Amino acid sequence: MTSFGRRPKKRISCDAPLAGRSMHQPQELQEKGAGMGKNSLGRRQKMSGCCRGFIPPTILDHLVVAAPVETRTAVVNSVRQSLMTREDRAGQRVGMEGLIAAGRFASGGFANRIVYDCENKWEPQLLKMRTEGGPATGDDSADNAYKYAGEARDFFADELGRNSIDNQGMELILNVHFGTDFMNAVWDGTQMIFGEGDGEIFSGFARSLDVVAHELAHGVTQHTANLEYANQPGALNEHFSDVFGTAITQHCLGQDSGRADWLIGNEIMGPTLYGEALRCMKAPGTAYDNPLLGKDPQPSHMRDAYTGPDDNGGVHINSGIPNKSFYLVAMEIGTTAAVKVWYHALQNLWHTAQFNDTVQVIVESSRILTKNKQTPLGTPQTVRSAFKEVGLPS
Ligand SMILES: [Zn+2]
Repeated sequence: MTSFGRRPKKRISCDAPLAGRSMHQPQELQEKGAGMGKNSLGRRQKMSGCCRGFIPPTILDHLVVAAPVETRTAVVNSVRQSLMTREDRAGQRVGMEGLIAAGRFASGGFANRIVYDCENKWEPQLLKMRTEGGPATGDDSADNAYKYAGEARDFFADELGRNSIDNQGMELILNVHFGTDFMNAVWDGTQMIFGEGDGEIFSGFARSLDVVAHELAHGVTQHTANLEYANQPGALNEHFSDVFGTAITQHCLGQDSGRADWLIGNEIMGPTLYGEALRCMKAPGTAYDNPLLGKDPQPSHMRDAYTGPDDNGGVHINSGIPNKSFYLVAMEIGTTAAVKVWYHALQNLWHTAQFNDTVQVIVESSRILTKNKQTPLGTPQTVRSAFKEVGLPS
């Protein structure tokens, strides 16, 4: 039997300065959402760059204007909630001491999964649905989140030698059915949160291995390089999540680099946009082009790098540049060998690392792994060539 039980409401953050804050339903938007457009949101510039979830803020901004009226409330709520989650996360810069004190990163854990039902409220960890080793719940989102988080965890353990997000067996907390029609998935610094989408434009985010692995990988980056979530370090943060997300998906599907679709987010497209994706690592800039989402803005070369303020300085945009390099390397040496190089580099990068720094570190990692016979001879040259094709180092 699954043990269902209510637990006391938990704040999304564990640091004292956020006491009293919690995620909550954006009531005023619920009341006024329908009919809200660009002008009534008013501060599109402010909205842009504040969201940190699977769906880039550039897409949500576009949807606010382009979505049909019946969908617009869900979009506006998703923008607002993503913004609040981002603010909560920004407030969580408490350092490892605070997190350990809060008991979230106790060493010697077993990387156990806990799935919570948010009951369509804007509050995580409401109802425990499934724990490690427990029986299936019959709920698609809960059972898939459980399964995919396990596959991502096992990939990190078996292929990369990492024990969960913090390498100390940290629990994997998964929240499903978050909010009403919430169009996003989020790593908030301590846990994963998945919306159900509106069912037309986006479907359930927890039902995609790509998405679950991508969000879990944000946790791994936080506990390694901890790349700042803005500008080039932010684009690298997104890039590493795409790299791990796609490597884990290919591994679980038994695909090699030549057979993979190299798309990110295609599994969450609802019936309205079936066939589209959010990003394409093989050909950045080609993932989508339609009136609802706009056009994929990702560049695949440094000469086209985005330099504006939206999307935290283009974190979901400029990630296309290193994404293309990873694709090129994986096509030469295989995705599993390539992801080993990238994971080695991630552990040697730092908070403010730029693209040029990262190229240098990835080349160095490839040399070390080749010397140790973990990657084929010629890998450093393949890596240099792949970055040269996208204009790096610049
Ligand atoms: Zn992300």
